[in-house]
Amino acid sequence: MKNNIIKSRVGGKSKRSGELLAQKLQAEGITNPKVLQAIANSPRHIFIPEILAHKAYDNTALPIGQGQTISQPYIVAKMSELLLGKKGDRTSSILEIGTGSGYQTSILAQITDKVFSVERIKALQFQAKRCLRAMDLHNISMKHGDGWKGWISKAPFDAIIVTAGASSVPEALLEQLVDGGRLIIPVGEQTQILKIITRQGDSYNEEQVEAVRFVPLVPGDLL
Ligand code: SAH
Repeated sequence: MKNNIIKSRVGGKSKRSGELLAQKLQAEGITNPKVLQAIANSPRHIFIPEILAHKAYDNTALPIGQGQTISQPYIVAKMSELLLGKKGDRTSSILEIGTGSGYQTSILAQITDKVFSVERIKALQFQAKRCLRAMDLHNISMKHGDGWKGWISKAPFDAIIVTAGASSVPEALLEQLVDGGRLIIPVGEQTQILKIITRQGDSYNEEQVEAVRFVPLVPGDLL
């Protein structure tokens, strides 16, 4: 029943709102056509509490319950662009840490072949799953687990994206990258620096992108 309600909220005027949001992000410097198309196609309003639906296509983070937030669309687009890398970089198998609302997951599922996503709060994972099903996206596998550990049985990944602020870079994530793979991760406490860490054999090359602010990547216990 609830799923049907979500499904009935997928279409309609969100198409135009998504297109307008994509135009806004393009004006802010997002250039990748695949990413812009995915933003234009995605009904962001189904991923947030209905009471905030009127803000769904604003370029802001919003609360989604459990003390967590749906990320700002600009940062979702920016990280997706970084994850795609340059022409020829592989994106057959992607790992996302911090499913949250599932909105970033839905964008990744439209621009890559296969997405694995890990979330520590069961209730959020459950709700995200419903939304992704309502969008008819079926190239996503989800796990209730601790993202600090990655997803060892599905590794290695062509790219890994972390959508929560990590106090340090999780060793397991570095180990779960293919050679040439990219880890996109915000590192720091209150505010973080968004980093791209590229694996080259047994060494890792780090680039800093920009300052960002995410909820923390919490160690350990699942909820
Ligand atoms: N991309 C999501 C961001 C959600 S906020 C969105 O736009 O909706 C970050 C998410 O990371 C939260 O849902 C939080 O529960 C999750 N998280 C925090 N620590 C985690 C951990 N150790 N393992 C998995 N998920 C974690």
